[in-house]
Amino acid sequence: MPKIALKKNDLVVVIRGKDKGKQGKVLMLIPETNRVIVERINFSKHFVKADRSRNQQGGVMEKEAPIAVANVMLYCSECGQGVRARTHRHDDGSKSRHCHRCDTLIEKQK
Ligand SMILES: [Zn+2]
Repeated sequence: MPKIALKKNDLVVVIRGKDKGKQGKVLMLIPETNRVIVERINFSKHFVKADRSRNQQGGVMEKEAPIAVANVMLYCSECGQGVRARTHRHDDGSKSRHCHRCDTLIEKQK
């Protein structure tokens, strides 16, 4: 199974496709298909018919569709662009992720 380098709640930027340049927070990882769901990205409206038997109201549903991991990158606010993360290992055994360009701390891990 391919490992997704991103994590839930990471801020990412879309680098390809119709949402190119938009930023959002990772809501869900889908390792099975190597995709992620990003807040407000790849948002699609679809119409749902009312279905009385399932007690479902008709109307417009808006929902994020999964986007390929290859189409997003971790966003660094210092660089103002998508970057790769570099992991630093610390003497106390903890790890942290940093921007590989400017070394800004992105996330501290235990
Ligand atoms: Zn940076």
